[in-house]
Amino acid sequence: MNSYKAYPISRNNIKNFVHKIKEITGFENDLYFPVVHFLEHVLPILVPDFCLEIVPKNMMGSKHGETFPNKNLIRIREDIYLRACNGEGRDRLTIAHEIGHLFLHDNDSIALCRLEPGESIKPYEDPEWQADCFGGELLASSYLIKNLSVETIMNSCGVTRNAATVQKRNA
Ligand SMILES: [Zn+2]
Repeated sequence: MNSYKAYPISRNNIKNFVHKIKEITGFENDLYFPVVHFLEHVLPILVPDFCLEIVPKNMMGSKHGETFPNKNLIRIREDIYLRACNGEGRDRLTIAHEIGHLFLHDNDSIALCRLEPGESIKPYEDPEWQADCFGGELLASSYLIKNLSVETIMNSCGVTRNAATVQKRNA
């Protein structure tokens, strides 16, 4: 299980942060967020020493993506990247999740956490929850999808049914 704990960030904090990023980059009103374009062409402007590696499947194993925020490095497995380029919701979300780690986490904000017996990490302190939350919000922003059906969210935002349902529930 995850033994890392991050500084707490609420869903509302993340919503506001994603809205800011979209405002700055001009994607504020677009239902469909071009996450691959953002990864390749916008992140390098926002984060000048940003580094992207597309890694062959045999070199990355079961991991779909990984992020080293202190190196400003995102690595995406090649097959995941190619499927994301083809608009596959699940793989688009993987990329959005890794972008979340890049923005939200660094060595200082994540501490190795030794949980007491019976103690469990709170969702908003879990870096994976935070990155999932960021990813969902980046692809299907609450302020845009509030009044849309799950089907419309899936089709317009390019996300899976599961992601559309979660976003709709929390919008
Ligand atoms: Zn993660």
